[in-house]
Amino acid sequence: MNNKYQIAIDGPASAGKSTVAKIVAKDLQYVYCDTGAMYRVVTLKAIQNGIDLNDETKISEMLNDTDIRFELGEPVQKVFLDGNEVTEDIRQTNVTNSVSTIAAQKAVREVLTNWQRDLAKNGGIVMDGRDIGSAVLPNAEVKIFLIASVQERAERRYKENIAKGMETDLEQLKKEIEIRDHKDSTRKISPLTKASDAIEVDTTSMSIQDVVNEILRIVENASKRK
Ligand code: C5P
Repeated sequence: MNNKYQIAIDGPASAGKSTVAKIVAKDLQYVYCDTGAMYRVVTLKAIQNGIDLNDETKISEMLNDTDIRFELGEPVQKVFLDGNEVTEDIRQTNVTNSVSTIAAQKAVREVLTNWQRDLAKNGGIVMDGRDIGSAVLPNAEVKIFLIASVQERAERRYKENIAKGMETDLEQLKKEIEIRDHKDSTRKISPLTKASDAIEVDTTSMSIQDVVNEILRIVENASKRK
């Protein structure tokens, strides 16, 4: 099979994108890129530096002096900000609930989108996010849009948080997911949207392995069409 495809996996918050994208990348021996983690790192740095999250000029200046790196890791990819590991810090509730504000800013999107395109330019990549199929990689050979009910997404996140020892309220999680989806879908620049040529997969009641198999089947079909 052609090993140079760009595979874009988009969808709303907590639809299981990162989990399945990482497994698909491993199965195909592709690079995996979690673009949400990039927006989270920028948000974390702004919070750590006490920068007003609505101050686009300051955030943009901060970006000129920000180094974000990824390393392979199990069960999740390791993330580094300016040389320090922040894999867990970027998943904290304060970052999660502020990231959509940062992700709506033009300068932030420009810098991160350019970087994402550069990472994907030779293909052989699975990239997950909100605007990958619609804006970052419009020519990706495979575009998947993962959805699941809010109830199911909140329950998945709830179980993950409990397993990590994070105190969590299911109803609160549901609200936070809905607010984040609303902000991500209604922002002016590259909102969360299904590309017209993306294939929608509703993962409600599907196991992780079922979703992975479905995506691999879609990739296989794409390679037959070539
Ligand atoms: O995927 P994850 O939930 O980690 O993404 C965190 C946030 O980053 C999203 O809620 C969204 O605001 C932003 N994001 C984005 N574009 C992407 C990926 C993530 O705006 N391609």
